[in-house]
Amino acid sequence: MNSSTGNRRGVRVRAAPAPSGSLHVGNVRTFLYNWLHARHTGGIFVLRIEDTDTSRFTEEAYEAVLEDLRWLGLDWDEGPEVEGPHAPYRQSQRTQLHVRAAERLLASGAAYRCYCTKEELNQRRAEAMAERRRPGYDGRCYRLTPDQIAGYEAEGRAYTVRVHIPDEGEVVFEDLVIGRIATQLDQIDDFAILRSDGAPLYHLAVVVDDGLMEISEVIRGDDLLSNTPKQILLHATLGNPVPSFGHLPQVLGPDRKPLSKRHGSTSIADFRETGYLQEALVNFLALLGWGTADDTILSREELVLRFDISDVHPSPAMFDTKKLDWMNGEYIRLLADEDLTRRVIPFYIRAGLVGAQPTDDEMNKIAAATPLIKTRIRRLDEAPALVRGLFTRVHLDRDTARNALLAEHVPDLFERTMVQLAHVDPWTKETVEAALRGVAEEMALKPRNAFAPFYVAVSGSTVSAPVFDLMTLIGREECLLRLRRALDLSRDLAGTATS
Ligand code: GLU
Repeated sequence: MNSSTGNRRGVRVRAAPAPSGSLHVGNVRTFLYNWLHARHTGGIFVLRIEDTDTSRFTEEAYEAVLEDLRWLGLDWDEGPEVEGPHAPYRQSQRTQLHVRAAERLLASGAAYRCYCTKEELNQRRAEAMAERRRPGYDGRCYRLTPDQIAGYEAEGRAYTVRVHIPDEGEVVFEDLVIGRIATQLDQIDDFAILRSDGAPLYHLAVVVDDGLMEISEVIRGDDLLSNTPKQILLHATLGNPVPSFGHLPQVLGPDRKPLSKRHGSTSIADFRETGYLQEALVNFLALLGWGTADDTILSREELVLRFDISDVHPSPAMFDTKKLDWMNGEYIRLLADEDLTRRVIPFYIRAGLVGAQPTDDEMNKIAAATPLIKTRIRRLDEAPALVRGLFTRVHLDRDTARNALLAEHVPDLFERTMVQLAHVDPWTKETVEAALRGVAEEMALKPRNAFAPFYVAVSGSTVSAPVFDLMTLIGREECLLRLRRALDLSRDLAGTATS
């Protein structure tokens, strides 16, 4: 049997997450490719929530999925909230449709009731394994006589519903990514589509929904590849046009094992909270399995323009956090200052530099800090440490201070500079810098030795935005106060060191 290509009414693709919390980046890459394919072809991107596993599903998980997709800008044309001609888009609300399809298959003889109990199935599986036979379902209930069926029914035995798969022939499809895949039918068992409690099973629900939603291409992870021959058969049995399929290779960690928590952040919430920009993530994920070696920064518009599902690489892609960090830094530098300011505020709040509702004064400082962080960070969560001194008089702990303030020249350096700074007029970055450089020259100090103590004195750390900028922004009075404090500490440390 050959599957015909979908594409009857233009491209209709779908993301079909089974929500269990914030999305895994690997799944997001899959959804992104679907979205790009829809946007590139002018097709429709459907969001269908596969929430039938009630043991795992929570309302918060559902909300988290929608929030992630919204944050990434993967807008859906049909799905929850926007709705559309094939509503509802939550699988749990479509059970009737699945059951009705199963009933149709029963009525046509394509499916049958299977009365085998779990124990019987387990026992037969064990026997098959012992005899080195394939342990699948043996089709026994397909061959029941009307009398046997009547007997089971009279007993009130529970049954599942299975589809009958003939033993001879093969199912062939041309995978959009992997190429031709052929499976012999004798390798496919009569699989269950309804559980004994009447609940639809995965293959039935997916195939009925993909059929009704007129999905033209099913683009999904290759962990689902082994399902595809069954689903193609089921589409054909239900009389659906069979969609095309494209299976994306896994996203791997640096050890070439599937990317998981062991490798660090994997959920979109993690990435959002550590200060990755959605633009950078989208760009990075798009290149995880698509694009040329020369591709780096590609805008969303360029991605949409160039993305072609048939160019997806069939080999697994490796998640390179260093590359993502680099790319994120590039995107940060592309932001307008006001935009960066807006995005970094939550990080200052979380780091305790400003209150949950920043005051006007705090907002001014936040805005003033933006040009200082912009060229220096790769992730937004790196910003607070660089400008902490702008917001608070950072506590100088002795260990941090020791290295920078213990050198012999430091007290003299601070004293001379304080004298200069007291007279600087006007108080600008240029005049402050000139004062510091003047003293350094006077004392014949190398810039490193001259300026490192000021970093620590002003911001409590050698990791900081440039000290001249910080000094200018915090003002003369505060600056002199911090230098006085550091001077005392440096004398104090020298005393401790010599005694
Ligand atoms: N809901 C399934 C999953 O999250 C995907 C179903 C499909 O793509 O066919 O694994």
